[in-house]
Amino acid sequence: MGRAVRKGCCSSRAEERRGMRLTELRGIGEKTEKLFQKLGVKTVGELLCYFPNTYLSYEKPVPIATLEEGETAAVLGILERDAAVLPRNGRKMTTVTVRDDSGRLQLCWFNAPFLRSVLRAGTAFVFYGKLRRYRSSLTMNQPRIFRQEEYAEKAGRLEPVYGQTKGLGNGAIQRAVRQAVTLLGEEGAVRVSQEDFCLGRLLLDFVPESIRYNRRLLPIREAVRSIHFPDTMKQYQEARRRLSYDELFLFSAALLDRKRRTEDCPSDYRIERQPESCALLKHLPFRLTDGQAAALEEIRTDLASGYVMNRLLQGDVGSGKTILAFLAMLDTALSGFQAALMAPTELLARQHYDKLCALLLQHGLPLRAVLLTGGMSAGEKREVYQRIADGTVQLVVGTHALFQERTEYRQLALVVTDEQHRFGVLQRRELTEKGGRPHVLVMSATPIPRTLALLLYIDMQVSRITELPKNRLPIRNAVIQDQERQKAYRFLYGEIQRGRQAYLICPMIEKNDTIELRNVEEELPRLRAVFPKEVRIAGLHGRMKAEEKERVMAAFLRHEIDLLVSTTVVEVGVDVPNATVMLIENAERFGLAQLHQLRGRVGRSELQSYCIFLDEKNSKSSRERLSILAASNDGFHIAEEDLRLRGPGDLFGIRQSGELLFTMADVYQDRELLAQAAEDARYLFSKDAELRLPEHEPLRLRLAAYLEESGTL
Ligand code: ADP
Ligand code: MG
Repeated sequence: MGRAVRKGCCSSRAEERRGMRLTELRGIGEKTEKLFQKLGVKTVGELLCYFPNTYLSYEKPVPIATLEEGETAAVLGILERDAAVLPRNGRKMTTVTVRDDSGRLQLCWFNAPFLRSVLRAGTAFVFYGKLRRYRSSLTMNQPRIFRQEEYAEKAGRLEPVYGQTKGLGNGAIQRAVRQAVTLLGEEGAVRVSQEDFCLGRLLLDFVPESIRYNRRLLPIREAVRSIHFPDTMKQYQEARRRLSYDELFLFSAALLDRKRRTEDCPSDYRIERQPESCALLKHLPFRLTDGQAAALEEIRTDLASGYVMNRLLQGDVGSGKTILAFLAMLDTALSGFQAALMAPTELLARQHYDKLCALLLQHGLPLRAVLLTGGMSAGEKREVYQRIADGTVQLVVGTHALFQERTEYRQLALVVTDEQHRFGVLQRRELTEKGGRPHVLVMSATPIPRTLALLLYIDMQVSRITELPKNRLPIRNAVIQDQERQKAYRFLYGEIQRGRQAYLICPMIEKNDTIELRNVEEELPRLRAVFPKEVRIAGLHGRMKAEEKERVMAAFLRHEIDLLVSTTVVEVGVDVPNATVMLIENAERFGLAQLHQLRGRVGRSELQSYCIFLDEKNSKSSRERLSILAASNDGFHIAEEDLRLRGPGDLFGIRQSGELLFTMADVYQDRELLAQAAEDARYLFSKDAELRLPEHEPLRLRLAAYLEESGTL
């Protein structure tokens, strides 16, 4: 899916065969065609899909006195003197000073001595450029120069800025696109669509008319025209909305189509609950919460149903998802099949593996488990693969490596992925491809906003655990500033003296010249000096060797370490119930949801736990954000608030995970549109799942191409 949504909508093999060549446009020869190819644009259709990265907006000129460093602005200024050309660092610099009613501004250009003939004393121009500070005064570097009338024409317009390559500048790309856009006219379009597969597909509006009408979406041609050359901001927004809708709708349709194909899919693996796992359940040190019990029931029903399970288990941090996964895996293995559990980090994989082994041992179960992670040597891996392939092991726990490499299973009947948001839709498919058609259980603590969940998990059944185990006390939170640091250390020490353990989280591993943030390497010796000798302190971060990390984590779990100074490697899943306090340095640097995940490392037992957020910045916005965390331990509430505050910010790294990197749409900014697109797609599929109706023909074709392109659904 990641590949399908890269910039530019099309470039599968099919299109290379067909497409109107760029050389058919005026002014484009073979040489320029080659340059366009560097940008991934091979046909006129692809050119039309080569959307601007951004726009220059020519705002009305502003008074010089109001200019600020860093902004890009236009000023209307009169030259005080003729331009001067001075040598500077071996280059020629042209400078002038201009004034308006409010003040004076210096402008400069490098290597443009010819400007001297234009920039004469007493003349007025509009200068457009970015403001920098140079020796205490503001200057505009390399501004563009416009005659007043010329600028008036541009003002209020948006000028597209395209991704460029050496030898192919923005102006040339604009000219080419302008020609291509004229082909979108009715007659041209017919001609071109016959010749250009990509364009033809673009013009084949796959969103049914009724939806377009209901949602007030622009016709596709108009949208394409306006995205390149919007006359007004409103036009741009409308165009963007339409094209974003298309992406979201197609994405939803693709997932629904997959759902249709996999749903009611008979399973080779009928897994009944096993007496051993039921006995184990009775002997756990705790009783399942109602939510856990209900979810387990749903999972077990799915597994025994004779159909392939595709279920999401959602529950806030600490709600106790792991034990349910283990029970399902045990049922599977005891039924004679294999089960695999995939975790997002080696640390977590190791932890799950250790717990699973302990469970097997405690209950004398005749099953074998292996751990498989990317950090293992080739030889070790080979041996593990062998044991998986010949069926000597029934339970496999690991990281991505588990599925990315050629792991052959004997009878893989169940795949569990923990902390799903770390993987994304793409991996979901990869791993389901491993066996015949295994049951899939996805576990997520990510409190993703409902709209987003709607899309991401459109093809899954959902079980939700809404409560935490009853023995839990709500975590007590505090947001503090630097001057209270010593007090916080004393608090940590107090907890350590009472036999508890603590985390201290830093945003960085080591010192960094450009940003000054707390880092593990510098904090370690500092904290060793701060705390009394008997406090056992260790560091942990992602750049340590796998064994090293495991050693530290295991020691922390065994309580051979009191204070763990760590980066966010412990963010997900890590479970050390005796740890009751966490201090997060530079808390202002993290997203709310991420802080919530981090905080989830404490409060995992009946012990009162604490989380201290150190706000080094203490700005109005950081205070506001952190106060949300301090006031609530509810992940869903926090996610919604985060969304509200940060808008299109990046919450959980979901956007970095690939599959949600749409060209146009932004899953945060456009979440309403997203909900609409998902709803529309769902409705459409409920009426015509096979897309047989004539009005759904364009969608059927487009979807087939999309699936072929992305190759991942
Ligand atoms: P998460 O849902 O965040 O993955 P875990 O499965 O790691 O949470 O569970 C957190 C802790 O709570 C573990 O130590 C687990 O043993 C414990 N736990 C799970 N279920 C219960 C329960 N019903 N009552 C008490 N403790 C529980
Ligand atoms: Mg977990």
